[in-house]
Amino acid sequence: MGRVHSIETLGALDGPGLRMVVFLQGCPLRCRYCHNPDTWCAGGGQELSEADIAARAARYKRFFGKTGGVTFSGGEPLLQADFVLKCVRALHEEGIHCALDTGAGLWNEASARLFDAADLVILDVKHSDPAGFRRLTGGDIGTLEQALAHLRAAQKPTWVRQVIVEGYTQDEGQVRALKEKIRGLNLERLELLPYHTLGVHKWKALGLPYALEGVAPPDETVMARLRALL
Ligand code: SF4
Repeated sequence: MGRVHSIETLGALDGPGLRMVVFLQGCPLRCRYCHNPDTWCAGGGQELSEADIAARAARYKRFFGKTGGVTFSGGEPLLQADFVLKCVRALHEEGIHCALDTGAGLWNEASARLFDAADLVILDVKHSDPAGFRRLTGGDIGTLEQALAHLRAAQKPTWVRQVIVEGYTQDEGQVRALKEKIRGLNLERLELLPYHTLGVHKWKALGLPYALEGVAPPDETVMARLRALL
């Protein structure tokens, strides 16, 4: 059994085509802009089996078409890598494409097995340098480096994302470093996404002080300038 925060039935943003998105409970990082702080606690959510997930996905299979499928997100899905791997195997038996949406907040042998089984890895590169990564997420960049090395060696189809936030990643040197960091990947898509404040109410509901209070989302001019560097 795995601990699942929620399931979005037909999302269009987390991978190719229309997708069922499974948000796993638990995350070792504490990103300052997190819009899902209600997934942090590893003990929350509901218990579901891989058969439950496969049965739910089978109901939506006709909407997936040739490109859609199921995306495992979170939280950090690598925290429950063995469970997610069982889900991927069950979904593959149904011919359903599986994507893994991760910040690589931890790395171990189970993470590597799950990366190998997924059809696509969507990797959120939080920051390009160790100090910036720690300041933004509270974690160590080492697990991200291991994930990148594994993706590069396996030539796994990969999407890379980074959230641009003023005072953290909104910096030309940082974006140039991102370009170097992802060199050699089997990269299908690279996205810079503007920081947004849609998750602020969740921090307040949980009684947490919002870590980016007063930080404004970048405007389109800033985003265009940074995207041009890539
Ligand atoms: S990795 Fe995702 S869920 Fe975890 S703290 Fe960062 S944004 Fe939130």
